Amino acid sequence: MNANSPRHEIDELHLQLGLLQTLDVGLIVLNKDYQIHLWNSFMENHSGLLHSKLFKRNIFEAFPELPSQWLRHKIDSVFLLKNRSFITWEQRPYLFKFKPHRPITGEAPFMYQNATLIPLKSPGGEVDNVGIIIYDVTDAAIGKIGLEEANTQLQHLSQTDQLTSLYNRGFWEARLRHEFDRFSRTQAPSSLLMMDIDHFKKINDNFGHPAGDEVLRQMAAILKDVTRTTDIVGRYGGEEFGILLIDSNAKQSLRVTERLRDRISRLVVKHLNDEIRFTISMGLTEISNSFQTHEQWIQLADQALYQSKSNGRDRLTILGTED
Ligand code: GH3
Ligand code: MG
Ligand code: MG
Repeated sequence: MNANSPRHEIDELHLQLGLLQTLDVGLIVLNKDYQIHLWNSFMENHSGLLHSKLFKRNIFEAFPELPSQWLRHKIDSVFLLKNRSFITWEQRPYLFKFKPHRPITGEAPFMYQNATLIPLKSPGGEVDNVGIIIYDVTDAAIGKIGLEEANTQLQHLSQTDQLTSLYNRGFWEARLRHEFDRFSRTQAPSSLLMMDIDHFKKINDNFGHPAGDEVLRQMAAILKDVTRTTDIVGRYGGEEFGILLIDSNAKQSLRVTERLRDRISRLVVKHLNDEIRFTISMGLTEISNSFQTHEQWIQLADQALYQSKSNGRDRLTILGTED
């Protein structure tokens, strides 16, 4: 019997199949009619279906849940182009919905899979079969997803004020600068409202610091309530807040300042046995081409706020509107 006899080839194949059975990856061999010619032990273990049951069955009939149109197209191009093709879990989390193999965290609802499609050439050079190797990449995928979630959380933390959940000063000011730059191109109006709680020190002194904190939280909740989701609300300092009212000139912004005054005048903050009322002072400035920088815009709104304070508090001052 010579080395190229069919008998020898079959022996060789069996030897290779034996090796492949022990691999810790899934291996499937399909012919041009998508019939299964090999289904290794990894695939048997995870699917619960034996090679002998699946042998020569059309894979799309045996697994109707497969994305058939898409996968057929992938397989066809491997036959046609005689090149390898790859599928990553980021494109599709899995081809076969298997239970996670080694759940490290218990978080994975299924086994994440990468797959490689390989053209299998016959001795004549023809591609008669396609091999599909399935890799269990659950650990790596869960690690990466966890990292991405941690990054999102970190990003949120770095732009949020802990006490009030509003934007912190750094992020708020960055958004203001962005809006200022946008204005030079679009000339779309927007207004800056700066606010400061009146005699806040007395609230701390009379009711304690935790009561002061509760006032800040409830004030922040009202600010979110009376503004639109597109407006940019931030905690500028201890008991100072800033709102960037997008697409609102000074006159249109009065709707917000009036609602705000109304809500705060009716607010009674309850803390332990205390009932706390307070007022705020406000300064409003519409954006203008006369500002060279966004800081100048803030300065004028701050000046308006200062005037409200010196004129007796609990009021609004508007500066810088040209009409
Ligand atoms: P005015 O009407 O002039 O604004 O008087 P005020 O007492 O509000 O003046 P000021 O701005 O000087 O006081 C702010 C106080 O806010 C001082 C500071 O102890 C307090 N404060 C700053 N941050 C916090 C905080 O996170 N929680 C609490 N409870 N108090 C804070
Ligand atoms: Mg104050
Ligand atoms: Mg202050």
